[in-house]
Amino acid sequence: MIHELSFRIALAALLGLIAAGGNLLGGYFVVYREWPRRYLQYFLALGAGYMLSVALVEVIPESVHLAGESALLYVLAGFFLVHLFEHTIAPHFHFGEETHTEQMQHGHAQSAIFLGLAIHTFFDGVAIASGFLVSTWLGFLIFVAVFLHKLPEGFTVASVVMARSQSKRNAVRAAGLLGAATLAGVLLTSQLQGQLKYALPLSGGVTLYVAATDLLPEVNKEPNWRMALLVFVGVATMLILKLLFNL
Ligand SMILES: [Zn+2]
Ligand SMILES: [Zn+2]
Repeated sequence: MIHELSFRIALAALLGLIAAGGNLLGGYFVVYREWPRRYLQYFLALGAGYMLSVALVEVIPESVHLAGESALLYVLAGFFLVHLFEHTIAPHFHFGEETHTEQMQHGHAQSAIFLGLAIHTFFDGVAIASGFLVSTWLGFLIFVAVFLHKLPEGFTVASVVMARSQSKRNAVRAAGLLGAATLAGVLLTSQLQGQLKYALPLSGGVTLYVAATDLLPEVNKEPNWRMALLVFVGVATMLILKLLFNL
């Protein structure tokens, strides 16, 4: 019989690989396919509502359960770690297609955005593995949260590279590297199980930041009430999953 923990770790690695593939696919779409931009926006809206719910209803309470109220300090640290790298060090960053070619010509703009996104995607992987270290249920919930914004992530980084260099190959490679960062997060967290009480709240803070400040503002830019409504569908999906499977 397979040891239950090793099974969960293997599952985390497999789903980490699928999430990484989502980054690559997002990059591929922006470079080689005329993919309706609307679909990407749907993912952003669903992802925003769903991710916020998972962070607030599952990940953060579970972190407090593991480490006491000091876990909230790590949530705060994770939240502002992304703020530092995505929006303080990087001069110009937003989710979705990068169309501001002028902004991208500044020397380090592209590498700063890549670094910020790589740190964020690394924590996507940390989040998946931390979830599976707690339970299959939490791991699965977090995987869905990560997966929902993986295509837009790959799309974002590839379009940043395209705006700067027009190199299709580099654009897809950048999306692939983000996927690799996610996988690295999964594998490292699976190795460092003793650090779960830090890894879970840190990744909870990252998830909260990505949902509330990267995804939601992009949704709110759309002058379309259907998009705004989809955010609630994301929230409802998470709550229904909770009612059905985690009574
Ligand atoms: Zn821009
Ligand atoms: Zn992400």
